[in-house]
This record gives sequence, C-alpha cells and structure tokens, in this order.
Amino acid sequence: MAHRVTLIPGDGIGPELAEATRRVLDATGIAFEWETVDAGEAVIAEYGTPLPDHVLDSIRTNKVALKGPITTPVGAGFRSVNVTLRQVLGLYANLRPARSIKGLETRYDDVDLVIVRENTEDLYAGIEHMVGPDAAESIKIITRAASERIARYAFDYAVANGRRKVTAVHKANIMKLSDGLFLESCRTVAEQYDGRVEFEDRIVDNMCMQLVQKPDLYDVLVLPNLYGDIVSDLCAGLVGGLGVAPGANIGTEAAVFEPVHGSAPKYAGQNKANPTALILSGVLMLRHLGEQAAAERVETALRDVIAEGRQTTYDLGGETGTSEFADAIIARLADQPVVPA
Ligand code: NAD
Repeated sequence: MAHRVTLIPGDGIGPELAEATRRVLDATGIAFEWETVDAGEAVIAEYGTPLPDHVLDSIRTNKVALKGPITTPVGAGFRSVNVTLRQVLGLYANLRPARSIKGLETRYDDVDLVIVRENTEDLYAGIEHMVGPDAAESIKIITRAASERIARYAFDYAVANGRRKVTAVHKANIMKLSDGLFLESCRTVAEQYDGRVEFEDRIVDNMCMQLVQKPDLYDVLVLPNLYGDIVSDLCAGLVGGLGVAPGANIGTEAAVFEPVHGSAPKYAGQNKANPTALILSGVLMLRHLGEQAAAERVETALRDVIAEGRQTTYDLGGETGTSEFADAIIARLADQPVVPA
C-alpha cells in the first residue's frame, strides 16, 4: 500500500528542494501518495492565516509530513508557522543528527552527534509583551512533564540506536529554577537507564566550546528548545553547513520531517540551493515509515555522489544545480540492487 504523506513545499528555496526530494524518494520504488498543501505568507490572502486548518488536518490524517522551510518575518508580523506547527501538533521531540559526510572539507572527519531538542516550550512558548514603551519581557516556560518526556525520548533513542551516552545541556548555574528543573528532570530519567546509557551534563556555553574543539567526546545531546536550536546550527557547521543538516519533529500523533535550515530567500528560484538536508530528512522519514532498506539506499547514493565530488552544489564547493544533484542521486539509485524487504 502507498504511504500517504503531506508535502509542504514551503517558500524561498523550499519548493525547489521539495521537488528534488520528492523525485529522489519516488525513485526508490516505494509508493507514495503526496498530498501537497501550502503554508506561509503566500496563503494569508486566501485563508486569513499562514497556517490554514486544512494543512493541520492533512498532517493529522496522514500522520507524516515532509516540509520545506517557511519564512518568518523578523521583529513583527505573524508568529513562526514552523514553531506553531510543532506546538499545535504536539511534536515534542526535534531530532537533528549531525554526521560527517566523506568528501566534504570540514574541521573533523568523524563527527557523529545527535541533537534532541525540546520542541514545545522554553522561550518559544511565544509569551512576551512590552512592559511600558522601553522594556520587553519574554517568558521562559519549563515544565517537569515536558522535560522528562524529552529526556525519555533521548534515552530511548540512545538505547534503540546503540548510542553510549546522553549529555543534558543547560544554564542551571544562572537560571536555577527553569534550567534547574530541566536538569533535575533529566537526572531523574537518567536513573531509570542506569547501566545501559551513560549520563552527564554540561553548561551550554562550555558545551559550545567543547563541541568546536572535541566533538568526539559527545554522542546524544538533550537540550531545551532555544539552546537546541542554536547548538544544532553549530553542529551543522561541524559537518558541512546548513545545506546538509536534516531534522525530524516527532510527536505521539504525527511526525514532520524538515531540514534544520531556513528559506534562504536570496537563493530562491535559482536552482542553486543544496537539497541534501531535505533529502536526508526524507531518509529519516523512510526509517520512521519502516522502509529501512530504501532509507539505506538513498543515504548511500547521496553520500556516494558527494564523496565522488564531481556533482555538488555551490555550498559544498561545486557548481551543480539543485535539480541536477537530485538527478545524480537518482542515477546512483538505479545502479544499486534492490534488496527485497
Ligand atoms: P537560512 O537557514 O535560511 O539561511 C542561512 C544561510 O545558510 C543562507 O544564506 C545560505 O548561505 C545557507 N543555506 C541555508 N540553507 C541552504 C541550502 N539548502 N543550501 C545551501 N545553502 C544553504 O537562515 P536565515 O537566513 O536565518 O533564515 C531565513 C528565513 O528562514 C527566516 O525567515 C527564518 O525565520 C526562516 N527559518 C525557517 C525555518 C523552518 O522552516 N523550519 C528554520 C530556520 C529559519
């Protein structure tokens, strides 16, 4: 039976990356029924909102979505569609693996980190207001329930994927109550995995420095929303940049797969941006759907094309276009034997 998947192309570079990714995933031979829906600024005139109900309904029904980036206006305008989607659908875990790709010139050759970011609260709860004309207040929400839930996700992920250690990242020396509660929750959950997965914690500023100098010391990182957002871009930088950093937003009812990067408006419509991050998000989606063999095939084909170095996009030092890069992966897939599931 075909997998029915909601496809949100997004805006900026999103639509061209979504088209490249859809073609690669279809080339695996796995049957998909793509239900394409739009969100973001372009739909406001028609629906009065950047996130119409039928988009949410489609994801709720299909339970799986592949999503391109969506622009959020800075300083004013509507709230982030990306953040709202995660909150409304309860997509509490943001999984962002950062793994070195052979052939890319980076500081280290063997980075293999997994960021598990809490996706629903912290300063992203969106509770902020002006306190008079010259001061603004944003409220940081941290709850025991959400912190224990994300910690459990990180430990379960570690166990299921044979990872050795979980590091909780926080600033509990300064935010003793909020980050203190996050750390305490992680410690509580860690006790239940004692003997199976190691546990340690790091203060976020020190963590950033350590990741740049000694990423091999770390494995799975679990972080509150804001630090997770920032540290995952840092980790993307360790393995080749935002063009190669995939992500998944996982909840109990649905999962939305999207790259770490945004809509990079200055490259929109130029057939220039790198679709690797969205294709690797598609690989995470294939695994989520139980299509392990197809996931392996796509990842191997993509890594082979990059390792070969003849056809890469501008950000990896090449001149190949988005669409032609996808063609190169599809050609590789055609060369690979299909192993029956
Ligand atoms: P960005 O990730 O869009 O781009 C930053 C830079 O990274 C780009 O200028 C480009 O040099 C590089 N880059 C990003 N993606 C690339 C790709 N696929 N291939 C090659 N190079 C790539 O970050 P930004 O400029 O801070 O944000 C632009 C918009 O995207 C903002 O409106 C922001 O709110 C939004 N955004 C959306 C999401 C999302 O949809 N989940 C995530 C982050 C940012």
